[in-house]
Amino acid sequence: MGEPIYRRVVVKLSGEYFAGPQSYGIDQSTIDRVAGDLIAARGLGVEIAVVVGGGNIFRGVEVSARGVSRPTGDTMGMLATVMNCLALGEALQRHGQKARTLSSFVMPQVCELYTRAAAQQTLGEGGIALLAGGTGNPFFTTDTTAVLRAAEIGADAVLKATNVDGVYSADPKRDPKATRFERLTHSEALAGGYKVMDATAFALARETSLPIIVFSIAEPGSIGTVLGGAGRATVVAG
Ligand code: UDP
Repeated sequence: MGEPIYRRVVVKLSGEYFAGPQSYGIDQSTIDRVAGDLIAARGLGVEIAVVVGGGNIFRGVEVSARGVSRPTGDTMGMLATVMNCLALGEALQRHGQKARTLSSFVMPQVCELYTRAAAQQTLGEGGIALLAGGTGNPFFTTDTTAVLRAAEIGADAVLKATNVDGVYSADPKRDPKATRFERLTHSEALAGGYKVMDATAFALARETSLPIIVFSIAEPGSIGTVLGGAGRATVVAG
């Protein structure tokens, strides 16, 4: 594995991945494996903040389709991200890694409030900062949260961990002719309307000149590989 090419990153983990082989909820062995990958990546000397999604529990759009208002559904989704962070935080601590969950919502009995200073302090002390609660606002996603927080804390890149190994010209599961991009500009990613990340996230990354590296988390150790500038991935930058 090469020397890390980033000093500080935000890793975006989809909530869906936390469900493991199930379609809903939290699969502990999957979380333990991801925790191990994060600790190994931290061991390379890179400062790591993590934004976790909530799609394994609630997605606002899906909840609102069943009759709940969209803002309430989105709030449920944001609370789901807190649950995922608590599960990941415990797994990290169980493996001896200092981790601190910081939420966009005030919930003193559960975890601390996210502030830029608290996140910076955690990273400076060698801890992994788990950024929970999304942006704290409905109608956004945790992809956008990852870019927003990365810009706030001065991260060098967003590592977008998904279940595919990059951005494809079409859905590779449905279209055998789909090809993977090695590199895209933010503008190309926006114009292409690729489903891997929402337009708000790409637009904010363009605005803040933040590279986004899209890679597969299914490959054990892939976070460390990507930090070394290697492995199969799509780099969205420039
Ligand atoms: N969400 C929100 N505002 C945010 C981030 C998330 O309202 O800033 C809600 C939204 O309902 C979303 C859910 O939380 O569907 C879970 O987040 P996301 O869909 O990004 O999770 P993932 O797909 O990564 O599991």
